Amino acid sequence: MADAVTRTPSEVGAQRGLGAFAAGQGPSIVVENVSKTYETRGGSVEAVRESSFDVKDGEFVALVGPSGCGKSTILQICAGLIPSDGGSVVVGGVEAQPGRREVGIMFQAPVLLPWRTVTENVLLPTEVFGIGKKEALKRARELLELVGLQGFEDKYPWELSGGMQQRASLARVLVYDPDILLMDEPFAALDEFTRERLNLELARIHESLGRTVLYVTHNIQEAVFLSDRVVVMKPHPGEVLDIIPTGLPRPRQFEVLEEQRTVDLVIKIRRMLFADGPPEADRE
Ligand code: ADP
Repeated sequence: MADAVTRTPSEVGAQRGLGAFAAGQGPSIVVENVSKTYETRGGSVEAVRESSFDVKDGEFVALVGPSGCGKSTILQICAGLIPSDGGSVVVGGVEAQPGRREVGIMFQAPVLLPWRTVTENVLLPTEVFGIGKKEALKRARELLELVGLQGFEDKYPWELSGGMQQRASLARVLVYDPDILLMDEPFAALDEFTRERLNLELARIHESLGRTVLYVTHNIQEAVFLSDRVVVMKPHPGEVLDIIPTGLPRPRQFEVLEEQRTVDLVIKIRRMLFADGPPEADRE
């Protein structure tokens, strides 16, 4: 089954007038001195300690670090799904809270409903947010084209590859037009080729729609490729080690991965994370 687009998403986005890239107009997400400890039967787990960073309007920021450094915890706090123990998180001008139309969340698993077609799955949030059917359907069709799923609108999730399911999931999160996207390793379960291709398409969608993105990954190269800035985290407890601007040009192209400055950035971050030897998760 073909898993390809015939036009670049940014071309489609520009043509559709879906928005323009506009980075750097003040912070959309402000995470300030955030701490989180989980109480478990085995004792307390200090997941995040006094961590701070921001994501400016239209900016793409990745949280990168080994498993267990608190990336998902921070993302879930930003989504309002779990409370922090200390510090503050302001998202789109208000304290983090769940179920907001301004904020879209995407996880590793696409979680599509098997009894609904691709289009019907994409329309799901528009029903939740009470968006008019005609407008919703128009936008769903535009977005399915944007993510390269034209021709698959009436298929069921089980008729799609893993990569295509994540494309549908991306269209579903974009359909209600959130200003801010919170993404937790959305392509981690996919094979390397599909992941790279989707990364490029995500970069193009970000560039054409101009949304603010906070993206969690343990893949340093992916973080560097996608981001304007990379927040580097270490585990036990989860803490921000550094915040590194990538300075890489947009629109992002695969070729940038081969440039020395990109390779140097990846090495710099890897050294930062491996300063005390391999992370514990890798020793197990
Ligand atoms: P990452 O996303 O970087 O892998 P997490 O935020 O998932 O890190 O986890 C950070 C730490 O908190 C880990 O030690 C993890 O085991 C622990 N943790 C995460 N969620 C829970 C939870 N619900 N209950 C107890 N401990 C948790």
